[in-house]
Amino acid sequence: MDIDATHREPACMIRTKIVATLGPASSDPEMLGAMIDAGVDVVRLNFSHGTLDDHARVLSTLRRLCEASGAIVAVMGDLCGPKIRLGEFADGAHILEPGGQVVVQRAPCTGSAQRFCLTNASVVDEIGAGHRILIDDGNITLQVVDKRSDELACECIVGGGLRTRAGVNLPDTELSIPSLTEKDQVDLEWAADHELDYVALSFVRRPEEIHAVRERVQARGRAIQVVAKIEKPEAIERIDAIIDVADAILVARGDLGVEMDLARVPLLQKDIVARCGRAGKPVIIATQMLQSMVASAVPTRAEVSDVANAILDSADAVMLSAETAVGQYPLHAVRVINRIAAETEAFFASGDAPRPKRVIPASFPVASAIAQAAGRLARDVDAALVAVWTESGYTARLMANLRLGRIVVALSHDPAVCREMALLFGVHPLRMEPCEPQDAMLRQLDRALVDRQLARPRDLIIVVSGTHLLRADATNALLTHRVAAS
Ligand code: PEP
Repeated sequence: MDIDATHREPACMIRTKIVATLGPASSDPEMLGAMIDAGVDVVRLNFSHGTLDDHARVLSTLRRLCEASGAIVAVMGDLCGPKIRLGEFADGAHILEPGGQVVVQRAPCTGSAQRFCLTNASVVDEIGAGHRILIDDGNITLQVVDKRSDELACECIVGGGLRTRAGVNLPDTELSIPSLTEKDQVDLEWAADHELDYVALSFVRRPEEIHAVRERVQARGRAIQVVAKIEKPEAIERIDAIIDVADAILVARGDLGVEMDLARVPLLQKDIVARCGRAGKPVIIATQMLQSMVASAVPTRAEVSDVANAILDSADAVMLSAETAVGQYPLHAVRVINRIAAETEAFFASGDAPRPKRVIPASFPVASAIAQAAGRLARDVDAALVAVWTESGYTARLMANLRLGRIVVALSHDPAVCREMALLFGVHPLRMEPCEPQDAMLRQLDRALVDRQLARPRDLIIVVSGTHLLRADATNALLTHRVAAS
Protein backbone atom coordinates (compact mmCIF):
# COMPACT_ATOMS: atom_id res chain seq x y z
CA MET A 1 0.00 0.00 0.00
CA ASP A 2 1.31 3.42 -0.89
CA ILE A 3 1.17 5.29 2.36
CA ASP A 4 4.24 7.43 2.03
CA ALA A 5 4.46 8.78 5.52
CA THR A 6 8.14 9.63 5.37
CA HIS A 7 7.53 13.23 4.30
CA ARG A 8 4.76 14.35 6.55
CA GLU A 9 3.06 17.72 6.61
CA PRO A 10 3.85 19.89 9.62
CA ALA A 11 1.92 18.59 12.65
CA CYS A 12 -0.01 21.85 12.85
CA MET A 13 -1.72 21.04 9.55
CA ILE A 14 -3.39 17.98 11.08
CA ARG A 15 -6.43 18.75 13.18
CA THR A 16 -7.12 15.22 14.48
CA LYS A 17 -5.16 14.60 17.66
CA ILE A 18 -2.82 11.63 18.07
CA VAL A 19 -2.55 9.81 21.39
CA ALA A 20 0.41 7.44 21.64
CA THR A 21 0.84 4.83 24.38
CA LEU A 22 4.40 4.75 25.69
CA GLY A 23 6.25 1.55 26.47
CA PRO A 24 9.61 -0.12 25.89
CA ALA A 25 9.41 0.63 22.13
CA SER A 26 9.00 4.37 22.63
CA SER A 27 10.67 5.36 25.89
CA ASP A 28 14.18 6.24 24.80
CA PRO A 29 14.71 9.96 24.21
CA GLU A 30 15.59 9.67 20.53
CA MET A 31 12.46 7.69 19.65
CA LEU A 32 10.17 9.77 21.87
CA GLY A 33 11.54 13.02 20.40
CA ALA A 34 11.00 11.74 16.86
CA MET A 35 7.44 10.68 17.69
CA ILE A 36 6.66 14.15 19.08
CA ASP A 37 8.13 15.73 15.94
CA ALA A 38 5.92 13.38 13.92
CA GLY A 39 2.79 14.80 15.54
CA VAL A 40 2.04 13.05 18.86
CA ASP A 41 -0.16 15.39 20.94
CA VAL A 42 -0.90 13.23 23.97
CA VAL A 43 1.11 10.38 25.48
CA ARG A 44 -0.56 7.63 27.50
CA LEU A 45 1.22 6.10 30.48
CA ASN A 46 -0.47 2.75 30.97
CA PHE A 47 -0.42 1.83 34.67
CA SER A 48 -1.29 -1.78 33.73
CA HIS A 49 2.34 -2.20 32.71
CA GLY A 50 5.64 -1.09 34.24
CA THR A 51 6.36 0.43 37.64
CA LEU A 52 5.82 3.99 38.84
CA ASP A 53 9.62 4.42 38.63
CA ASP A 54 9.47 3.43 34.94
CA HIS A 55 6.70 5.98 34.36
CA ALA A 56 8.62 8.66 36.27
CA ARG A 57 11.66 8.07 34.05
CA VAL A 58 9.74 8.38 30.79
CA LEU A 59 7.83 11.40 32.12
CA SER A 60 11.05 13.21 32.91
CA THR A 61 12.43 12.35 29.43
CA LEU A 62 9.24 13.73 27.87
CA ARG A 63 9.35 16.93 29.92
CA ARG A 64 13.01 17.45 29.03
CA LEU A 65 12.25 17.00 25.33
CA CYS A 66 9.28 19.38 25.45
CA GLU A 67 11.31 21.98 27.33
CA ALA A 68 14.06 21.80 24.71
CA SER A 69 11.81 21.88 21.64
CA GLY A 70 8.88 23.99 22.89
CA ALA A 71 6.48 21.16 21.97
CA ILE A 72 3.25 21.01 23.98
CA VAL A 73 2.29 17.42 24.77
CA ALA A 74 -0.36 16.33 27.27
CA VAL A 75 0.17 13.29 29.51
CA MET A 76 -2.66 10.87 30.24
CA GLY A 77 -2.26 8.27 33.00
CA ASP A 78 -4.43 5.22 32.39
CA LEU A 79 -5.59 3.54 35.61
CA CYS A 80 -5.95 -0.26 35.41
CA GLY A 81 -9.36 -0.30 37.11
CA PRO A 82 -10.79 -3.57 38.40
CA LYS A 83 -9.32 -5.65 35.58
CA ILE A 84 -9.61 -9.30 36.51
CA ARG A 85 -6.79 -11.59 35.45
CA LEU A 86 -5.86 -15.27 35.63
CA GLY A 87 -3.54 -16.21 38.51
CA GLU A 88 -0.11 -17.82 38.12
CA PHE A 89 0.33 -20.92 35.95
CA ALA A 90 3.04 -23.57 36.13
CA ASP A 91 5.59 -23.49 33.31
CA GLY A 92 4.55 -25.19 30.09
CA ALA A 93 1.44 -25.22 27.90
CA HIS A 94 -2.07 -25.35 29.42
CA ILE A 95 -4.43 -25.97 26.56
CA LEU A 96 -8.21 -26.09 26.99
CA GLU A 97 -10.09 -28.08 24.36
CA PRO A 98 -13.71 -27.27 23.44
CA GLY A 99 -16.08 -29.51 25.41
CA GLY A 100 -13.45 -30.03 28.15
CA GLN A 101 -14.01 -29.33 31.88
CA VAL A 102 -12.04 -26.92 34.07
CA VAL A 103 -12.50 -25.59 37.62
CA VAL A 104 -12.09 -21.95 38.65
CA GLN A 105 -11.36 -21.88 42.38
CA ARG A 106 -11.47 -19.18 45.03
CA ALA A 107 -8.29 -20.25 46.86
CA PRO A 108 -4.92 -19.28 45.33
CA CYS A 109 -3.22 -22.07 43.38
CA THR A 110 -0.69 -22.63 40.63
CA GLY A 111 -2.87 -22.98 37.57
CA SER A 112 -3.13 -25.89 35.15
CA ALA A 113 -5.53 -26.92 32.38
CA GLN A 114 -7.64 -28.66 35.09
CA ARG A 115 -7.98 -25.84 37.63
CA PHE A 116 -6.87 -22.26 38.14
CA CYS A 117 -7.64 -19.13 40.19
CA LEU A 118 -8.27 -15.44 39.46
CA THR A 119 -6.35 -12.41 40.76
CA ASN A 120 -9.50 -11.24 42.56
CA ALA A 121 -10.76 -14.21 44.62
CA SER A 122 -14.05 -12.64 45.79
CA VAL A 123 -15.25 -12.33 42.19
CA VAL A 124 -15.79 -16.11 42.19
CA ASP A 125 -18.67 -15.59 44.68
CA GLU A 126 -20.47 -13.28 42.23
CA ILE A 127 -20.22 -15.45 39.11
CA GLY A 128 -23.39 -17.50 38.72
CA ALA A 129 -24.34 -20.76 36.98
CA GLY A 130 -24.75 -20.17 33.24
CA HIS A 131 -22.44 -17.09 33.25
CA ARG A 132 -19.66 -16.86 30.67
CA ILE A 133 -16.00 -16.41 31.61
CA LEU A 134 -14.07 -14.88 28.71
CA ILE A 135 -10.28 -15.15 28.78
CA ASP A 136 -7.49 -13.43 26.83
CA ASP A 137 -9.53 -10.72 25.04
CA GLY A 138 -12.38 -13.18 24.50
CA ASN A 139 -10.24 -15.75 22.67
CA ILE A 140 -11.30 -18.46 25.14
CA THR A 141 -14.90 -18.91 26.36
CA LEU A 142 -15.93 -20.93 29.40
CA GLN A 143 -19.45 -21.38 30.74
CA VAL A 144 -20.20 -22.12 34.39
CA VAL A 145 -22.16 -25.39 34.60
CA ASP A 146 -22.09 -25.85 38.39
CA LYS A 147 -21.58 -23.30 41.16
CA ARG A 148 -20.19 -25.03 44.26
CA SER A 149 -18.91 -23.54 47.48
CA ASP A 150 -15.64 -21.77 46.66
CA GLU A 151 -15.37 -23.05 43.10
CA LEU A 152 -17.02 -23.01 39.70
CA ALA A 153 -17.18 -26.03 37.43
CA CYS A 154 -16.95 -24.80 33.84
CA GLU A 155 -17.29 -26.22 30.38
CA CYS A 156 -14.95 -24.94 27.69
CA ILE A 157 -16.95 -23.57 24.75
CA VAL A 158 -14.06 -22.03 22.77
CA GLY A 159 -10.63 -23.44 23.59
CA GLY A 160 -7.11 -22.07 23.66
CA GLY A 161 -3.96 -21.73 25.75
CA LEU A 162 -4.14 -20.40 29.33
CA ARG A 163 -1.30 -18.19 30.56
CA THR A 164 -0.38 -16.25 33.69
CA ARG A 165 -2.20 -12.92 34.08
CA ALA A 166 -4.28 -13.21 30.88
CA GLY A 167 -7.25 -10.79 31.04
CA VAL A 168 -10.67 -12.06 32.13
CA ASN A 169 -14.05 -10.53 31.23
CA LEU A 170 -17.35 -11.46 32.84
CA PRO A 171 -20.07 -10.00 30.58
CA ASP A 172 -22.96 -11.75 32.40
CA THR A 173 -21.88 -10.91 35.96
CA GLU A 174 -22.77 -7.73 37.83
CA LEU A 175 -19.63 -7.06 39.85
CA SER A 176 -19.56 -5.18 43.13
CA ILE A 177 -15.80 -4.51 43.14
CA PRO A 178 -15.05 -0.78 43.27
CA SER A 179 -13.92 0.88 40.05
CA LEU A 180 -10.95 2.41 41.87
CA THR A 181 -8.78 -0.40 43.25
CA GLU A 182 -6.05 0.09 45.89
CA LYS A 183 -3.45 0.13 43.12
CA ASP A 184 -5.51 2.72 41.23
CA GLN A 185 -5.58 4.95 44.31
CA VAL A 186 -1.79 4.86 44.55
CA ASP A 187 -1.44 5.46 40.78
CA LEU A 188 -3.98 8.30 40.90
CA GLU A 189 -2.10 10.06 43.71
CA TRP A 190 1.11 9.63 41.74
CA ALA A 191 -0.59 11.09 38.64
CA ALA A 192 -1.85 14.08 40.63
CA ASP A 193 1.49 14.69 42.36
CA HIS A 194 3.34 14.46 39.03
CA GLU A 195 0.93 16.96 37.49
CA LEU A 196 -0.38 14.68 34.75
CA ASP A 197 -2.96 16.43 32.59
CA TYR A 198 -5.49 13.62 32.14
CA VAL A 199 -6.31 10.46 34.04
CA ALA A 200 -8.31 7.72 32.31
CA LEU A 201 -10.61 5.63 34.48
CA SER A 202 -11.05 2.05 33.24
CA PHE A 203 -14.27 0.02 33.40
CA VAL A 204 -16.42 3.01 34.36
CA ARG A 205 -19.96 1.93 35.24
CA ARG A 206 -21.53 5.03 36.79
CA PRO A 207 -21.06 8.83 36.67
CA GLU A 208 -20.41 8.91 40.45
CA GLU A 209 -17.11 7.10 39.80
CA ILE A 210 -15.88 10.07 37.76
CA HIS A 211 -16.84 12.46 40.57
CA ALA A 212 -14.99 10.24 43.06
CA VAL A 213 -11.75 10.43 41.06
CA ARG A 214 -12.00 14.20 40.74
CA GLU A 215 -12.73 14.64 44.45
CA ARG A 216 -9.80 12.42 45.44
CA VAL A 217 -7.46 14.57 43.33
CA GLN A 218 -8.96 17.78 44.67
CA ALA A 219 -8.45 16.52 48.21
CA ARG A 220 -4.70 16.54 47.44
CA GLY A 221 -5.00 20.16 46.35
CA ARG A 222 -4.60 19.25 42.66
CA ALA A 223 -6.77 19.17 39.57
CA ILE A 224 -6.78 16.73 36.67
CA GLN A 225 -9.01 16.15 33.65
CA VAL A 226 -10.88 12.85 33.95
CA VAL A 227 -11.33 10.62 30.90
CA ALA A 228 -14.03 7.94 31.10
CA LYS A 229 -13.08 4.73 29.31
CA ILE A 230 -16.21 3.19 27.84
CA GLU A 231 -15.81 -0.58 27.90
CA LYS A 232 -18.70 -1.97 29.99
CA PRO A 233 -22.38 -2.54 29.13
CA GLU A 234 -23.27 -0.64 32.34
CA ALA A 235 -21.49 2.43 30.93
CA ILE A 236 -23.40 2.13 27.65
CA GLU A 237 -26.67 2.09 29.65
CA ARG A 238 -25.72 5.41 31.32
CA ILE A 239 -23.70 6.89 28.52
CA ASP A 240 -25.19 10.42 28.49
CA ALA A 241 -24.79 10.84 32.25
CA ILE A 242 -21.17 9.68 32.02
CA ILE A 243 -20.39 11.98 29.07
CA ASP A 244 -21.97 14.80 31.03
CA VAL A 245 -19.60 14.53 34.00
CA ALA A 246 -16.39 13.37 32.27
CA ASP A 247 -13.91 15.83 30.75
CA ALA A 248 -13.32 13.48 27.80
CA ILE A 249 -14.38 10.02 26.64
CA LEU A 250 -12.26 7.14 25.39
CA VAL A 251 -13.95 4.40 23.37
CA ALA A 252 -11.95 1.41 24.64
CA ARG A 253 -12.81 -1.01 21.86
CA GLY A 254 -10.60 -3.80 23.25
CA ASP A 255 -12.59 -4.59 26.37
CA LEU A 256 -15.85 -3.21 24.92
CA GLY A 257 -15.61 -5.83 22.17
CA VAL A 258 -15.30 -8.58 24.78
CA GLU A 259 -17.86 -7.28 27.27
CA MET A 260 -20.42 -6.75 24.49
CA ASP A 261 -21.16 -8.41 21.16
CA LEU A 262 -18.19 -7.46 18.97
CA ALA A 263 -20.53 -6.87 16.02
CA ARG A 264 -22.15 -4.00 17.95
CA VAL A 265 -18.90 -2.11 18.51
CA PRO A 266 -18.87 -0.07 15.23
CA LEU A 267 -22.35 1.36 15.81
CA LEU A 268 -21.70 1.90 19.52
CA GLN A 269 -18.56 3.83 18.55
CA LYS A 270 -20.49 6.02 16.11
CA ASP A 271 -23.24 6.61 18.64
CA ILE A 272 -20.77 7.60 21.39
CA VAL A 273 -18.91 9.97 19.04
CA ALA A 274 -22.21 11.62 18.03
CA ARG A 275 -23.29 11.99 21.68
CA CYS A 276 -19.91 13.52 22.60
CA GLY A 277 -20.35 15.93 19.70
CA ARG A 278 -23.73 17.04 20.99
CA ALA A 279 -22.33 17.43 24.51
CA GLY A 280 -19.20 19.23 23.32
CA LYS A 281 -16.84 16.66 24.90
CA PRO A 282 -13.63 15.43 23.25
CA VAL A 283 -13.70 11.73 22.27
CA ILE A 284 -10.76 9.41 21.63
CA ILE A 285 -11.10 6.23 19.54
CA ALA A 286 -8.74 3.53 20.79
CA THR A 287 -7.40 0.04 20.26
CA GLN A 288 -6.17 -1.88 17.25
CA MET A 289 -6.28 1.19 15.02
CA LEU A 290 -3.10 0.09 13.25
CA GLN A 291 -2.63 -3.22 15.09
CA SER A 292 -0.82 -4.98 12.24
CA MET A 293 1.91 -2.32 12.51
CA VAL A 294 3.06 -3.97 15.75
CA ALA A 295 4.93 -6.35 13.44
CA SER A 296 4.56 -4.90 9.94
CA ALA A 297 5.70 -1.63 8.37
CA VAL A 298 2.46 -1.45 6.37
CA PRO A 299 -1.05 -1.35 7.88
CA THR A 300 -3.96 -3.33 6.48
CA ARG A 301 -6.53 -1.63 4.22
CA ALA A 302 -9.15 -2.26 6.89
CA GLU A 303 -7.07 -0.42 9.52
CA VAL A 304 -6.53 2.59 7.25
CA SER A 305 -10.26 2.67 6.59
CA ASP A 306 -11.03 2.39 10.31
CA VAL A 307 -8.85 5.40 11.17
CA ALA A 308 -10.32 7.46 8.32
CA ASN A 309 -13.88 6.56 9.31
CA ALA A 310 -13.29 7.55 12.93
CA ILE A 311 -12.12 10.96 11.68
CA LEU A 312 -15.07 11.27 9.28
CA ASP A 313 -17.39 10.51 12.21
CA SER A 314 -15.85 13.54 13.96
CA ALA A 315 -13.70 11.88 16.61
CA ASP A 316 -11.29 14.34 18.22
CA ALA A 317 -8.40 11.93 18.63
CA VAL A 318 -7.16 8.52 17.56
CA MET A 319 -5.01 6.41 19.86
CA LEU A 320 -2.12 4.04 19.22
CA SER A 321 -1.66 1.31 21.83
CA ALA A 322 0.63 -1.68 21.29
CA GLU A 323 1.75 -0.08 18.01
CA THR A 324 3.81 2.53 19.87
CA ALA A 325 4.23 0.77 23.25
CA VAL A 326 5.76 -2.52 22.13
CA GLY A 327 5.60 -2.51 18.32
CA GLN A 328 8.50 -2.73 15.91
CA TYR A 329 7.52 0.46 14.04
CA PRO A 330 6.38 3.05 16.63
CA LEU A 331 7.55 6.11 14.73
CA HIS A 332 6.24 4.86 11.41
CA ALA A 333 2.84 4.11 13.01
CA VAL A 334 2.61 7.77 14.15
CA ARG A 335 3.56 8.98 10.67
CA VAL A 336 1.03 6.67 9.03
CA ILE A 337 -1.85 7.75 11.30
CA ASN A 338 -0.87 11.37 10.69
CA ARG A 339 -0.85 10.78 6.94
CA ILE A 340 -4.31 9.15 7.02
CA ALA A 341 -5.62 12.10 9.06
CA ALA A 342 -4.15 14.63 6.62
CA GLU A 343 -5.73 12.90 3.63
CA THR A 344 -9.11 12.45 5.36
CA GLU A 345 -9.26 16.02 6.65
CA ALA A 346 -8.66 17.28 3.09
CA PHE A 347 -11.97 15.64 2.20
CA PHE A 348 -13.62 17.60 5.05
CA ALA A 349 -12.15 20.79 3.65
CA SER A 350 -13.64 20.05 0.22
CA GLY A 351 -17.06 20.44 1.80
CA ASP A 352 -18.18 17.05 0.45
CA ALA A 353 -17.86 15.10 3.65
CA PRO A 354 -20.71 14.87 6.14
CA ARG A 355 -20.11 17.46 8.82
CA PRO A 356 -21.74 16.29 12.04
CA LYS A 357 -23.60 19.04 13.82
CA ARG A 358 -21.82 20.10 16.97
CA VAL A 359 -23.99 21.99 19.42
CA ILE A 360 -22.13 24.50 21.53
CA PRO A 361 -22.88 24.24 25.25
CA ALA A 362 -23.96 27.60 26.53
CA SER A 363 -22.59 27.94 30.08
CA PHE A 364 -21.14 31.28 29.02
CA PRO A 365 -23.55 32.55 26.33
CA VAL A 366 -21.43 35.54 25.27
CA ALA A 367 -18.35 33.36 24.74
CA SER A 368 -20.48 30.83 22.82
CA ALA A 369 -21.91 33.51 20.55
CA ILE A 370 -18.46 35.03 19.96
CA ALA A 371 -16.99 31.60 19.13
CA GLN A 372 -19.73 30.90 16.60
CA ALA A 373 -19.39 34.36 15.09
CA ALA A 374 -15.61 33.81 14.83
CA GLY A 375 -16.23 30.58 12.94
CA ARG A 376 -18.60 32.27 10.47
CA LEU A 377 -16.26 35.23 10.03
CA ALA A 378 -13.25 32.96 9.45
CA ARG A 379 -15.15 31.22 6.64
CA ASP A 380 -16.55 34.45 5.15
CA VAL A 381 -13.18 36.20 4.92
CA ASP A 382 -11.25 32.96 4.33
CA ALA A 383 -9.00 33.63 7.32
CA ALA A 384 -5.76 31.64 7.62
CA LEU A 385 -6.50 30.75 11.24
CA VAL A 386 -8.37 31.77 14.36
CA ALA A 387 -6.29 32.86 17.37
CA VAL A 388 -8.07 32.70 20.71
CA TRP A 389 -6.92 33.91 24.11
CA THR A 390 -8.17 31.49 26.69
CA GLU A 391 -7.57 31.48 30.42
CA SER A 392 -9.16 28.14 31.29
CA GLY A 393 -9.30 26.53 27.81
CA TYR A 394 -13.09 26.96 27.72
CA THR A 395 -13.21 29.14 24.60
CA ALA A 396 -10.77 26.78 22.87
CA ARG A 397 -13.17 23.90 23.62
CA LEU A 398 -16.00 25.87 22.06
CA MET A 399 -13.90 26.54 18.98
CA ALA A 400 -12.86 22.85 18.72
CA ASN A 401 -16.55 21.87 18.68
CA LEU A 402 -17.20 24.13 15.71
CA ARG A 403 -15.01 21.91 13.52
CA LEU A 404 -13.68 24.88 11.57
CA GLY A 405 -11.79 24.05 8.41
CA ARG A 406 -8.74 25.81 9.83
CA ILE A 407 -6.42 25.67 12.82
CA VAL A 408 -7.41 27.39 16.07
CA VAL A 409 -4.31 28.75 17.77
CA ALA A 410 -5.16 28.81 21.49
CA LEU A 411 -3.07 31.19 23.56
CA SER A 412 -2.67 30.83 27.28
CA HIS A 413 -0.06 31.85 29.81
CA ASP A 414 -0.72 28.70 31.84
CA PRO A 415 1.39 25.68 30.78
CA ALA A 416 -1.13 23.22 32.28
CA VAL A 417 -4.00 24.75 30.27
CA CYS A 418 -1.83 24.61 27.14
CA ARG A 419 -1.13 20.89 27.70
CA GLU A 420 -4.82 20.10 28.31
CA MET A 421 -5.72 21.81 25.04
CA ALA A 422 -3.36 19.47 23.14
CA LEU A 423 -6.22 16.92 23.05
CA LEU A 424 -8.73 19.31 21.44
CA PHE A 425 -9.50 18.81 17.75
CA GLY A 426 -7.94 21.46 15.54
CA VAL A 427 -6.53 23.38 18.49
CA HIS A 428 -2.84 24.29 18.42
CA PRO A 429 -1.88 25.49 21.93
CA LEU A 430 0.69 28.24 22.26
CA ARG A 431 2.06 29.53 25.54
CA MET A 432 2.06 33.31 25.70
CA GLU A 433 1.90 36.01 28.34
CA PRO A 434 -1.05 38.36 27.88
CA CYS A 435 0.00 41.95 27.51
CA GLU A 436 -1.61 45.31 26.97
CA PRO A 437 -2.25 47.48 25.09
CA GLN A 438 -3.85 45.52 22.28
CA ASP A 439 -1.24 46.63 19.70
CA ALA A 440 1.54 45.11 21.76
CA MET A 441 -0.44 41.91 22.18
CA LEU A 442 -1.01 41.64 18.42
CA ARG A 443 2.69 42.29 17.65
CA GLN A 444 3.63 39.51 20.05
CA LEU A 445 1.07 37.21 18.44
CA ASP A 446 2.27 37.98 14.89
CA ARG A 447 5.86 37.18 15.83
CA ALA A 448 4.86 33.87 17.45
CA LEU A 449 2.69 32.78 14.49
CA VAL A 450 5.34 33.61 11.89
CA ASP A 451 8.22 32.12 13.92
CA ARG A 452 6.33 28.84 14.23
CA GLN A 453 5.23 28.91 10.58
CA LEU A 454 1.58 28.88 11.62
CA ALA A 455 0.90 32.00 9.54
CA ARG A 456 2.74 34.11 6.97
CA PRO A 457 3.17 37.88 6.96
CA ARG A 458 0.04 39.59 5.51
CA ASP A 459 -2.20 36.57 6.27
CA LEU A 460 -5.66 37.57 7.43
CA ILE A 461 -6.51 36.01 10.79
CA ILE A 462 -9.36 36.23 13.30
CA VAL A 463 -8.53 37.05 16.92
CA VAL A 464 -10.93 36.14 19.73
CA SER A 465 -10.14 37.67 23.09
CA GLY A 466 -11.54 39.33 26.17
CA THR A 467 -11.16 42.92 27.16
CA HIS A 468 -10.16 41.48 30.52
CA LEU A 469 -7.82 38.66 29.50
CA LEU A 470 -7.45 36.97 32.85
CA ARG A 471 -11.06 35.93 33.41
CA ALA A 472 -12.42 32.60 32.19
CA ASP A 473 -15.76 34.12 31.18
CA ALA A 474 -14.21 37.24 29.70
CA THR A 475 -14.36 36.37 25.99
CA ASN A 476 -16.18 39.30 24.44
CA ALA A 477 -14.14 40.61 21.52
CA LEU A 478 -13.66 39.56 17.92
CA LEU A 479 -11.46 41.23 15.33
CA THR A 480 -9.97 40.60 11.92
CA HIS A 481 -6.27 41.25 11.80
CA ARG A 482 -3.59 41.10 9.10
CA VAL A 483 -0.31 39.58 10.30
CA ALA A 484 2.41 42.25 10.22
CA ALA A 485 4.58 42.29 7.09
CA SER A 486 7.79 41.55 8.99
C1 PEP B 1 -9.26 -1.08 25.59
O1 PEP B 1 -9.72 -2.00 26.26
O2 PEP B 1 -9.56 -0.88 24.40
C2 PEP B 1 -8.34 -0.12 26.22
C3 PEP B 1 -7.97 0.98 25.63
O3 PEP B 1 -7.93 -0.37 27.50
P1 PEP B 1 -6.59 -1.15 27.90
O4 PEP B 1 -5.56 -0.80 26.85
O5 PEP B 1 -6.27 -0.64 29.25
O6 PEP B 1 -6.96 -2.58 27.85
